[in-house]
Formats: sequence, structure tokens, C-alpha cells
Amino acid sequence: MRYTEFGRTGHTVSSLGFGAMNLPGVPLEQARAALNYALDHGINYIDTAAAYRNSEEIIGESIAHRRKEFFLATKTSKRDAKEAKEEIDRSLKRMNTDYIDLLQIHYVNHVHEFQQIMNENGAYQAALEAKREGKIRFIGITGHRPELLAKWIANGDFDQVLFHLSLVQPFANDELIPAAARMNMARTAMKPLSGGLIGPIDKAIRYPYSQNIHVLISGMTSTEDVKANIAAMERPVNEEERRELEQLAAELGAHDCRRCNYCSGSCPAGIAIPDVMISSQVRLKAGLLPKGQEWYENNKDKIISCADYEPCKDKPICEPKCPYRLPMRQAVMEAASYYNSRFRSESRY
Ligand code: SF4
Ligand code: SF4
Repeated sequence: MRYTEFGRTGHTVSSLGFGAMNLPGVPLEQARAALNYALDHGINYIDTAAAYRNSEEIIGESIAHRRKEFFLATKTSKRDAKEAKEEIDRSLKRMNTDYIDLLQIHYVNHVHEFQQIMNENGAYQAALEAKREGKIRFIGITGHRPELLAKWIANGDFDQVLFHLSLVQPFANDELIPAAARMNMARTAMKPLSGGLIGPIDKAIRYPYSQNIHVLISGMTSTEDVKANIAAMERPVNEEERRELEQLAAELGAHDCRRCNYCSGSCPAGIAIPDVMISSQVRLKAGLLPKGQEWYENNKDKIISCADYEPCKDKPICEPKCPYRLPMRQAVMEAASYYNSRFRSESRY
């Protein structure tokens, strides 16, 4: 485990943070044991969100009595000031604390959303007011479009930024991380396993660990998860390993999908296009985690149906939605060719 100054916050942060998003899916005793084990073994950063079901309550019930031992980050998805203010107060109650270290304005992906949060009645005003009242200490922003986040942080309104950084999503390295580093902003990376789809775990954790970030939040639900994540950060990454990991990220990230979700719901066949885009190369080259394999088995028929969906044969319905103009149909066909070589001639490979 590495410890660094978390940007301008004055907090010394552990390189591994506890992502509490999936705790609501496990028994409370298991969640409590995992959180306490993490604190006992050097993790001092806990990340949650008001939107993660009862994750905030689980934190309150499990570790509120150890509040001084960790930096507590949560998020509001609200866009206007009144609703954001109410949500901040609710988060404080749920987590049984009288201050939040970091409030992140959550999942800002569109220009109109950013304008909304920053206007005079926007969520940012609620965050400033909560800061004046001592309810929060720092303000951050999260999103899935790294090049837009790089622009949005330029005015210095935020103390921290949270972004995807993984072997399949290395894009924050292009502009966002250098921009945030120049401003000495706190930099938090998330989703090293891309939602539990990609492996191997060791490499998936060590890639973001090797990059210019302060803390990597990894979604954990058990003491075993915490042990595996801590073990992956036991050794520092040397130059040779870093180059190998960066090469692997360049290969696995060649799909270019940022998971911005602009295409969400656009497929009449119900295909979760970003999941296919992001994981299909991993499936071929590195192997998926069991959750990823299960996802493919459950979605096999939908993925295959893309090939025969007549309205998309000349002009794929999904593709105009993508701000990066990615060849989404080809990527789905490539995933389908894993099941049936009939689709191979229509894929890129
Ligand atoms: S091309 Fe395939 S993935 Fe895209 S909308 Fe059509 S059926 Fe869905
Ligand atoms: S395919 Fe394009 S629109 Fe869909 S999530 Fe990826 S980058 Fe965004």
C-alpha cells in the first residue's frame, strides 16, 4: 500500500480505497466485517453515493464509531441546489456522521448537465453552502467523459475528480490526469475490474496503481476481496512492469468506448452495447472474471440477434448516438462471432 498527499486536501490517502457500491447486495455482517478489516489493514478512504441503495446506511451502521480513521467520500446525483441540499442532509443522517470529507457531484456526462449544476440554482451552490456550514470539507466531480471533465475542472472549482481508469478504460490518461495533476487536484480512479467483468485481478489493479493517481477505489464486498485487493498493491510497480501494463491497456482499450452511456437504450434488441464493446477484446485476449462470463451467457441470444436485425443492416440505429462515432455494430458482430463463425465475415476481424 502506498500513501500520498491527496491533492490540496491535506489528507494522506491510502492507494486503495473501499468502494461500497455493492455492499447492499451482501449480508450486513459480511459488509461490516469487510469494512472493519479494511480499516484495520491500512485503507483510509471509503467511497459511496446517495444513489447506491442503502450503502450509506451500511457504512453508518458498520464504521461510524471509527469515523476519525477514514476519509469519507459520497456523491449526490441531484442537479438543482434544493434537492442536492436535502440529499446532503440525508447522507449525513444515513452515515451517522456530522461531516462528509468529500461530496462529489455525481455522473456528470453531458454539457447541459454541467451547465445545470454550475448555474446559480445548481447543485454546486448547495455544495458550497454545505461547505460553509461545515457539513462537507471538499467538493469533487465524477463522470464518464474524461475529455469533458478535463475542461470542466480547468476553472479550479473542484478539489477532486473521479474517473474510470482500467486496462479497458485507459482514456483518463490522455488529458484528464495530466490536467488534474498540473492543478494538484486530488485524483481518484474507479472501476479497475470494469464492474467485475475483467481479469486477471492482479493486473487489473496494478495498472491504475501504476498511473498518476492518488487512490483507486475498488468495489469490495467481503474480507476476501479486501485481502486480494491489498495483496495486489503489496509490491511497487517497477518501470518494466508499468510499460507492460500500459501496452496491455493500449490493446484492450482499442475499442475506444468511454462507457459514456449516450447509446443507452438505443438498441431495439436490448443489447448493452458498452458492456460488449469494453469486454469483447478482454474475453479473447485476457479472459473474463466469472461475472463477465455469466453476463455473456445470459446475453448470448441478444448479441447474436444483432446480425439478423434488418433495420440495422444498412444503417445501425445505435451508432449516431455515439459522440466518438464508434463502429458499434461491428463490435457486437465480433462478440457474436465467438459463438458462431457465420458472423465472422461481418466483424472487423
Ligand atoms: S446495430 Fe446491433 S447493437 Fe446497434 S442498434 Fe442495431 S441491433 Fe442493436
Ligand atoms: S459505444 Fe459510444 S455512446 Fe456507447 S457508451 Fe461507448 S462511447 Fe458512449
